[in-house]
Amino acid sequence: METSSLAQRLSTRFVAGSTLDDALAVGRRLNAEGITVTLDHLGESVTSLEEAAAARDVYLRVLPAIRDAGIQGNVSLKLTQFGLDFSYDECKANVERLVNCAAQMKTFVRVDMESSEYTDRTLDLVHDLHARYGSVGVVIQAYLRRSRHDVERLCREGIRVRLCKGAYLEPHTVAFAHKKDVDRSYVELMKLLMDKGEYPAIATHDEQVIAETKAYAAERKIARDAFEFQMLYGIRRDLQRQLVAEGYRLRLYVPFGNAWYPYYMRRLAERPANVLFILRNLFRQ
Ligand SMILES: Cc1cc2nc3c(=O)[nH]c(=O)nc-3n(C[C@H](O)[C@H](O)[C@H](O)COP(=O)(O)OP(=O)(O)OC[C@H]3O[C@@H](n4cnc5c(N)ncnc54)[C@H](O)[C@@H]3O)c2cc1C
Repeated sequence: METSSLAQRLSTRFVAGSTLDDALAVGRRLNAEGITVTLDHLGESVTSLEEAAAARDVYLRVLPAIRDAGIQGNVSLKLTQFGLDFSYDECKANVERLVNCAAQMKTFVRVDMESSEYTDRTLDLVHDLHARYGSVGVVIQAYLRRSRHDVERLCREGIRVRLCKGAYLEPHTVAFAHKKDVDRSYVELMKLLMDKGEYPAIATHDEQVIAETKAYAAERKIARDAFEFQMLYGIRRDLQRQLVAEGYRLRLYVPFGNAWYPYYMRRLAERPANVLFILRNLFRQ
């Protein structure tokens, strides 16, 4: 799929393009619309530590490229792309080089959250690097039963959190199975982060949750520059424009690169109507 030119054309629905220049061009365009970005070089579950080092080197080029292009943006990465399946220590050394570079450049690295087998190691790594460098934050998934406890600790340590619902298939022992429970958990954690968190990122396209966040911010007199909404590139452009027009901060997650297949499949799985959209385009091509 990743090497088929037809499939690659379809991937542009959710992916900025295959090169860093493609991502920077999208970043520039979004900045002009008043939207900041976080660039994600696609790739996860690398098959060797050499691949992990290569992924790290790409990110070490992305940070100065964002600065040199004058783009308002930072980066997001996945620990399995930095070698977590092979060695916690090597993975951490790879991320440390990037976080150190981000600290010197006064920018920021967000560590995405993957499936629940990685949650403890991801949080350990972020807590440790944050204590030494700052400049790093993490993602919390509202569908996990453990998340309230994790958010409380992250707030105590002043670590920035992006709150999302969660995108992986998890057993009901660790995650809420029903949408209404996930949404309830999301709103509870949103309130906790808005009260006690360090510049929270409310990452969702759920209009109801967004409305509750706006209402809570207004009720608690939380300034619009004290938090940001985040959405995925290519999803709900209408809502994105509306938030910016209303004066809220919005950052888009902009993935780029050739290894788009797993990311793309998660986006299709979230909304079956996307499959129809893709099929219709396939026949048009
Ligand atoms: C900036 C950002 C970063 C993220 N990082 C992570 C991460 O690190 N780890 C992780 O597990 N998950 C991550 N996610 C994904 C997240 O967990 C959800 O899977 C995803 O955002 C869909 O949930 P939702 O909050 O939009 O609500 P939902 O209830 O799933 O959707 C609400 C509405 O949003 C729209 N929508 C949602 N998804 C799609 C889609 N794919 N295509 C078209 N419309 C859609 C639909 O209108 C839908 O009705 C991230 C999401 C965002 C926005």
